[in-house]
Amino acid sequence: MVKTDILVIGTGIAGLSFAIKTAMKRADLHITIMTKDTAEVTNTRYAQGGIAAVMDRLNDSFNRHVQDTLQAGGGFCDQEVVRMVVHQAPDRLQELVELGVKFDMNNNQWDLALEGGHTAHRILHHGDITGLEIESALLNAVHKLSNITLLEKHFVIDLVVEKDNSDKKCIGAFYFDDTNIIRYIRAKETVLSTGGCGQVFRNTTNSHIATGDGVAIAYRANALVEDMQYIQFHPTALYEPGKNPYFLLTEALRGSGAHVVNDEGKRFLFQYDVRGELATRDIVSKAIGTELQKSCRQHVYLDCRHIDRHAFKTHFPAILSYCTGKGMDPFTSLLPIVPVAHYQCGGVTVNKHGQTRVTGLYAIGECAKTGLHGSNRLASNSLLEAVVYAHQAAEKICSTIDDMSFSAKVYIRKYHNGLLKADNRKINAIKKELQEIMASYNADNDSSNTALARLKDLKYTTSSLYNNDDLTVPIIELINMLTVATLIIEHSKKNNLITF
Ligand SMILES: Cc1cc2nc3c(=O)[nH]c(=O)nc-3n(C[C@H](O)[C@H](O)[C@H](O)COP(=O)(O)OP(=O)(O)OC[C@H]3O[C@@H](n4cnc5c(N)ncnc54)[C@H](O)[C@@H]3O)c2cc1C
Repeated sequence: MVKTDILVIGTGIAGLSFAIKTAMKRADLHITIMTKDTAEVTNTRYAQGGIAAVMDRLNDSFNRHVQDTLQAGGGFCDQEVVRMVVHQAPDRLQELVELGVKFDMNNNQWDLALEGGHTAHRILHHGDITGLEIESALLNAVHKLSNITLLEKHFVIDLVVEKDNSDKKCIGAFYFDDTNIIRYIRAKETVLSTGGCGQVFRNTTNSHIATGDGVAIAYRANALVEDMQYIQFHPTALYEPGKNPYFLLTEALRGSGAHVVNDEGKRFLFQYDVRGELATRDIVSKAIGTELQKSCRQHVYLDCRHIDRHAFKTHFPAILSYCTGKGMDPFTSLLPIVPVAHYQCGGVTVNKHGQTRVTGLYAIGECAKTGLHGSNRLASNSLLEAVVYAHQAAEKICSTIDDMSFSAKVYIRKYHNGLLKADNRKINAIKKELQEIMASYNADNDSSNTALARLKDLKYTTSSLYNNDDLTVPIIELINMLTVATLIIEHSKKNNLITF
């Protein structure tokens, strides 16, 4: 049995930023980071548009960023949290720069982009591969810190929680190691940074790792999970039926002047919002959805033909390369687009330090519900939220960990490795059916009840795939996805909400 002072689960911007900050501040602490795939396989690396911060105090202000965030969040944001995140943004971004992240400059000034819902240019970016730039710089920094151990292909199954007076306390986790052996690690503090759950939907921009594991794990450990009904759909994914994940055409394209048009080539968004293409994602996605219902078509289009070629090539080289590789030339033809599941606004409820209600358990990044996003995230606020909460959690843990001790209890693993018995065809069939349910339900009572009943059946079928706790990674991911799907529908039913 191994032990570590701090266990970090996930190697996206949230987990890596936390680990680096903590390791630099407290060289005496040992930090273990586990990730279920190789380290760079994250949603973070796919981020295109950038990261929001008020860097131009002449033409922008903290108050404007706060107001834009609150407006996007539909009245469901925590105002104190919004103010904290917005005010910390410049310092956190400066730290990323010091770690080697290169944001684009123009005439010695930050090249700040505009995105939907923002009333000022405030998006720092690295071309259209900002996430890849951040992920690479953070991984570089991690490799230089000798008090961090990074374990790839280590899949966390469940947290170990014990009773601490009347509270619950997280004391470690069970995981599959990279040889598929189930092990137990003891930790004084555990940080979930497991990202989102886009894969429960048929069409998503999210990487295959986004199966909602952190939310399901935390839920089983008695942490509070809220607002899972607030799944954000991104309005402009490139329409390629059957693709998983869908390729994103960043919001910054609309910020640079691209138009959304119907199959008659007409712009229609102004009928839904005076901001047209620069309205927030929920509004643009719903408008496109309505237009598709009216026209019985599968997609609308993004028209980039009028955008200056040089500017397009400079700012969106990866998008240009992807589209031309698919035989689509953005300078001469319309790009087919469709809204797809993109971001989980709710999640594991945390306070301003990233603490859950389970002692010793933190949640940061997309798996957490901090109160920043309300019902709809403002574009490019999620990478920002991740670095701010990584900072908050690091500060808290560094100042409190000396009072924490390892649990003396020895836990016998209750699972067996069922590797040889896994039937991946059956697992994939159940996953497909789950994604169909999520694509077709709406939040009226009858529809939700039918969807919940079908999910219950799928859980039952899934449980028949493993006997005597013979588990495999695909089975656990499926169980997690079924848990998260159920939470999404239950929460939307409670709030009488239709996700999209
Ligand atoms: C295509 C795309 C474009 C985007 N563009 C932007 C943008 O421009 N600006 C912006 O602010 N946001 C953007 N987002 C959202 C943003 O990228 C994510 O919200 C953010 O990167 C999440 O970071 P994270 O650290 O929380 O999780 P992730 O980066 O998703 O990392 C999750 C980590 O957890 C690990 N993990 C999960 N489950 C387990 C388990 N059971 N055991 C072990 N490890 C596990 C994964 O392997 C991975 O390492 C975009 C998202 C996508 C998909």
